[in-house]
Amino acid sequence: MKNSQKVAVVTGGNRGIGLEICRQLAQKGLLVILTSRDQGSGLAACEELQKEELPVRYHVLDVDHAASIENLALFMEKEFGRCDVLVNNAGIFPDVDDPNQKGGSSIFKVRVETINKAMTTNVYGPFFLSQALVPLMKKNNYGRIVNMSSGLGQLSEMGGGYPAYRFSKTGINALTRMLNAELEGDAPTSNILVNSMCPGWVKTRMGGADAPRSVEEGADTAVWLATLPDKGPRGGFFRDRKSIPW
Ligand code: NAP
Repeated sequence: MKNSQKVAVVTGGNRGIGLEICRQLAQKGLLVILTSRDQGSGLAACEELQKEELPVRYHVLDVDHAASIENLALFMEKEFGRCDVLVNNAGIFPDVDDPNQKGGSSIFKVRVETINKAMTTNVYGPFFLSQALVPLMKKNNYGRIVNMSSGLGQLSEMGGGYPAYRFSKTGINALTRMLNAELEGDAPTSNILVNSMCPGWVKTRMGGADAPRSVEEGADTAVWLATLPDKGPRGGFFRDRKSIPW
């Protein structure tokens, strides 16, 4: 590893948009730590990218578990002494597995367990990972955090249905704003940029076969935000590299 090479952690890198983010970041020359909760599919994805001669390494990470997050942070510190990019991509859509919502998804039917599940993976995971990795970013006064949100979390467009997922994606947007507010207040001017994004409706296991967008299109804004220049946008919400309302 060259000393100047930036190191990026991507969660949920074994498939879908996360795998494509790993590919595109590595194509840009970053050393990518592809992480997944399932070691088998994560290692296979990592090997796929290594066969393309891309700089990618693997580490297991289940964002639901504090010990797993701590383990990853220790690995980053010991192995590289740095963490330049964190892409909080891993996510679930548990409304579809909620037996109470089988006849139609609704805030009036959702089980609290379903909301807890969504919050644990989609909000608390990114939250604890940020707590664990921002100190490493502060060491070099450089960091880019990309929080994978969704249009379903937009307050300005809030509709009914999918309450657990919607709560969690509004929650990760709040996390973006809070992280940015505290980092922006740091002196000297902090070069740690935190942003939220929506990838659009993308053909993945979550998005389904009818989705109009490819993973390449879904990953594009994440890669752009992960490699923003100094003084780039911070504390914003983006789709297709353009600012969108909260
Ligand atoms: P996907 O194909 O279902 O992939 C989800 C990824 O998250 C998988 O790698 C999955 O790992 C991982 N994951 C789930 N729980 C995890 C945990 N506890 N720890 C670590 N990894 C975990 O979905 P996708 O479409 O690529 O979604 C990626 C992100 O984009 C999500 O945050 C999603 O909410 C967001 N998004 C997607 C769309 C869309 O249309 N696809 C639209 C808006 C936003 P396993 O393989 O182990 O399950």
